[in-house]
Amino acid sequence: MPCPMCNKSQDKKYRPFCSKRCADLDLGKWLTESYSIPAVETDEEDSIPTEFTPNESNLH
Ligand SMILES: [Zn+2]
Repeated sequence: MPCPMCNKSQDKKYRPFCSKRCADLDLGKWLTESYSIPAVETDEEDSIPTEFTPNESNLH
């Protein structure tokens, strides 16, 4: 299988790429594209709903 970045034969060490350069290029592409995706994981920690139960003993 050729390197997806430049179509050279891939290196075992940098599979599926032919070199670190191509692997880095692809990673850079990935990071840029993922900027549009909101980081859900970090958001969740702030917005965990607290299990607030109203004081039911007042209703009785
Ligand atoms: Zn390459």
